[in-house]
Amino acid sequence: MAGKSSLFKVILLGDGGVGKSSLMNRYVTNKFDAQLFHTIGVEFLNKELEVDGHFVTMQIWDTAGQERFRSLRTPFYRGNKIDINERQVSTEEAQAWCRENGDYPYFETSAKDATNVAAAFEEAVRRVLANEDRSDHLIQTDTVHLHRKPKTSSSCC
Ligand code: GDP
Repeated sequence: MAGKSSLFKVILLGDGGVGKSSLMNRYVTNKFDAQLFHTIGVEFLNKELEVDGHFVTMQIWDTAGQERFRSLRTPFYRGNKIDINERQVSTEEAQAWCRENGDYPYFETSAKDATNVAAAFEEAVRRVLANEDRSDHLIQTDTVHLHRKPKTSSSCC
Protein backbone atom coordinates (compact mmCIF):
# COMPACT_ATOMS: atom_id res chain seq x y z
CA MET A 1 0.00 0.00 0.00
CA ALA A 2 1.66 3.29 -1.08
CA GLY A 3 2.39 5.70 1.77
CA LYS A 4 2.15 3.06 4.48
CA SER A 5 5.48 1.92 5.97
CA SER A 6 5.93 -1.35 7.82
CA LEU A 7 8.65 -2.36 10.28
CA PHE A 8 10.11 -5.80 9.65
CA LYS A 9 12.67 -7.45 11.86
CA VAL A 10 15.22 -9.69 10.20
CA ILE A 11 17.50 -11.87 12.31
CA LEU A 12 20.81 -13.07 10.91
CA LEU A 13 21.67 -16.54 12.15
CA GLY A 14 24.73 -18.66 11.57
CA ASP A 15 27.96 -19.84 13.09
CA GLY A 16 30.51 -17.27 14.21
CA GLY A 17 32.72 -16.13 11.33
CA VAL A 18 30.34 -16.90 8.47
CA GLY A 19 29.95 -13.20 7.76
CA LYS A 20 26.69 -12.06 9.38
CA SER A 21 27.99 -8.67 10.58
CA SER A 22 29.73 -8.07 7.26
CA LEU A 23 26.53 -8.84 5.34
CA MET A 24 24.51 -6.44 7.48
CA ASN A 25 27.21 -3.77 7.20
CA ARG A 26 27.45 -4.12 3.41
CA TYR A 27 23.69 -3.86 2.98
CA VAL A 28 23.09 -0.91 5.32
CA THR A 29 26.27 1.15 4.92
CA ASN A 30 27.51 -0.28 1.59
CA LYS A 31 30.94 -0.86 3.13
CA PHE A 32 33.11 -3.88 3.74
CA ASP A 33 35.68 -3.88 6.51
CA ALA A 34 37.99 -6.89 6.67
CA GLN A 35 38.83 -6.00 10.28
CA LEU A 36 35.17 -5.79 11.30
CA PHE A 37 35.58 -8.42 14.03
CA HIS A 38 37.89 -6.07 15.94
CA THR A 39 35.12 -3.56 16.40
CA ILE A 40 32.38 -3.73 18.99
CA GLY A 41 29.33 -4.89 17.09
CA VAL A 42 26.02 -3.15 17.02
CA GLU A 43 22.92 -5.16 17.86
CA PHE A 44 20.88 -4.01 14.89
CA LEU A 45 20.84 -1.56 11.99
CA ASN A 46 17.83 -0.07 10.24
CA LYS A 47 17.44 0.17 6.48
CA GLU A 48 14.56 1.82 4.69
CA LEU A 49 13.61 0.45 1.31
CA GLU A 50 10.79 0.10 -1.17
CA VAL A 51 9.90 -3.34 -2.48
CA ASP A 52 7.19 -3.73 -5.12
CA GLY A 53 5.57 -0.44 -4.02
CA HIS A 54 5.71 -1.28 -0.30
CA PHE A 55 7.67 1.02 1.99
CA VAL A 56 9.52 -0.97 4.59
CA THR A 57 11.90 -0.26 7.45
CA MET A 58 14.00 -3.35 7.86
CA GLN A 59 15.53 -3.78 11.29
CA ILE A 60 18.39 -6.21 10.81
CA TRP A 61 19.55 -7.94 13.98
CA ASP A 62 22.99 -9.41 14.22
CA THR A 63 23.47 -12.22 16.69
CA ALA A 64 26.55 -10.63 18.20
CA GLY A 65 28.06 -11.42 21.60
CA GLN A 66 29.74 -14.68 22.39
CA GLU A 67 29.52 -15.90 18.80
CA ARG A 68 31.61 -12.92 17.75
CA PHE A 69 34.49 -14.06 19.90
CA ARG A 70 34.25 -17.59 18.62
CA SER A 71 34.81 -16.24 15.13
CA LEU A 72 38.27 -15.04 16.16
CA ARG A 73 39.25 -18.60 16.98
CA THR A 74 37.70 -20.59 14.17
CA PRO A 75 36.90 -18.46 11.16
CA PHE A 76 35.18 -20.55 8.55
CA TYR A 77 32.52 -20.00 5.97
CA ARG A 78 29.64 -21.93 4.47
CA GLY A 79 27.40 -20.89 1.60
CA ASN A 80 28.55 -17.30 1.85
CA LYS A 81 31.66 -15.26 0.82
CA ILE A 82 31.19 -16.26 -2.78
CA ASP A 83 34.21 -14.14 -3.79
CA ILE A 84 36.42 -16.87 -2.25
CA ASN A 85 37.11 -19.71 -4.68
CA GLU A 86 37.51 -22.48 -2.13
CA ARG A 87 34.06 -23.86 -1.21
CA GLN A 88 32.88 -25.64 1.92
CA VAL A 89 29.47 -26.59 0.47
CA SER A 90 28.58 -27.09 -3.19
CA THR A 91 25.82 -25.02 -4.77
CA GLU A 92 23.88 -28.20 -5.54
CA GLU A 93 24.10 -29.43 -1.95
CA ALA A 94 22.95 -26.09 -0.54
CA GLN A 95 20.12 -25.76 -3.06
CA ALA A 96 18.93 -29.30 -2.30
CA TRP A 97 18.93 -28.53 1.44
CA CYS A 98 16.82 -25.41 0.87
CA ARG A 99 14.39 -27.32 -1.36
CA GLU A 100 13.95 -30.14 1.13
CA ASN A 101 13.66 -27.98 4.24
CA GLY A 102 10.81 -25.65 3.36
CA ASP A 103 11.58 -24.63 -0.23
CA TYR A 104 13.58 -21.61 0.88
CA PRO A 105 15.09 -19.22 -1.64
CA TYR A 106 18.84 -19.60 -2.01
CA PHE A 107 21.36 -16.83 -2.61
CA GLU A 108 25.13 -17.02 -2.83
CA THR A 109 26.38 -13.71 -1.47
CA SER A 110 29.55 -11.77 -0.88
CA ALA A 111 29.70 -8.94 1.60
CA LYS A 112 33.13 -8.12 0.18
CA ASP A 113 32.09 -7.41 -3.42
CA ALA A 114 28.34 -6.92 -2.67
CA THR A 115 27.18 -9.86 -4.84
CA ASN A 116 23.51 -10.66 -4.22
CA VAL A 117 23.39 -8.87 -0.85
CA ALA A 118 20.53 -6.50 -1.65
CA ALA A 119 18.71 -9.24 -3.60
CA ALA A 120 18.80 -11.58 -0.57
CA PHE A 121 17.42 -8.98 1.85
CA GLU A 122 14.75 -7.86 -0.63
CA GLU A 123 13.62 -11.44 -1.13
CA ALA A 124 13.21 -11.75 2.65
CA VAL A 125 10.93 -8.70 2.57
CA ARG A 126 8.95 -10.13 -0.37
CA ARG A 127 8.33 -13.35 1.54
CA VAL A 128 7.09 -11.48 4.60
CA LEU A 129 4.81 -9.35 2.41
CA ALA A 130 3.45 -12.49 0.74
CA ASN A 131 2.75 -14.01 4.17
CA GLU A 132 1.03 -10.80 5.27
CA ASP A 133 -1.24 -10.89 2.21
CA ARG A 134 -2.17 -14.44 3.05
CA SER A 135 -2.91 -13.66 6.70
CA ASP A 136 -4.94 -10.55 5.71
CA HIS A 137 -7.03 -12.83 3.55
CA LEU A 138 -7.48 -15.31 6.38
CA ILE A 139 -8.58 -12.58 8.78
CA GLN A 140 -11.13 -11.37 6.27
CA THR A 141 -12.62 -14.75 5.61
CA ASP A 142 -12.77 -15.51 9.36
CA THR A 143 -14.41 -12.17 10.25
CA VAL A 144 -17.69 -12.39 12.11
CA HIS A 145 -20.08 -9.70 10.87
CA LEU A 146 -21.87 -8.57 14.01
CA HIS A 147 -24.35 -6.39 12.14
CA ARG A 148 -25.26 -8.85 9.43
CA LYS A 149 -28.88 -9.94 9.80
CA PRO A 150 -29.24 -13.65 10.40
CA LYS A 151 -30.84 -15.59 7.57
CA THR A 152 -34.55 -15.93 8.17
CA SER A 153 -35.95 -19.37 7.89
CA SER A 154 -38.96 -19.88 5.65
CA SER A 155 -40.53 -22.39 8.00
CA CYS A 156 -42.23 -20.91 10.91
CA CYS A 157 -42.43 -22.43 14.40
P1 GDP B 1 30.11 -13.08 11.85
O1 GDP B 1 30.85 -13.60 13.04
O2 GDP B 1 29.21 -14.14 11.26
O3 GDP B 1 29.39 -11.79 12.11
O4 GDP B 1 31.22 -12.82 10.72
P2 GDP B 1 31.97 -11.44 10.34
O5 GDP B 1 31.07 -10.56 9.57
O6 GDP B 1 32.63 -10.87 11.57
O7 GDP B 1 33.09 -11.99 9.32
C1 GDP B 1 34.10 -12.89 9.75
C2 GDP B 1 35.31 -12.74 8.85
O8 GDP B 1 34.97 -13.07 7.51
C3 GDP B 1 35.85 -11.30 8.81
O9 GDP B 1 37.25 -11.37 8.74
C4 GDP B 1 35.30 -10.74 7.52
O10 GDP B 1 36.13 -9.73 6.99
C5 GDP B 1 35.26 -11.98 6.64
N1 GDP B 1 34.19 -11.89 5.62
C6 GDP B 1 32.88 -11.64 5.85
N2 GDP B 1 32.18 -11.63 4.71
C7 GDP B 1 33.07 -11.88 3.72
C8 GDP B 1 32.97 -11.98 2.28
O11 GDP B 1 31.90 -11.86 1.68
N3 GDP B 1 34.12 -12.27 1.61
C9 GDP B 1 35.32 -12.42 2.24
N4 GDP B 1 36.37 -12.69 1.48
N5 GDP B 1 35.45 -12.32 3.57
C10 GDP B 1 34.36 -12.05 4.30
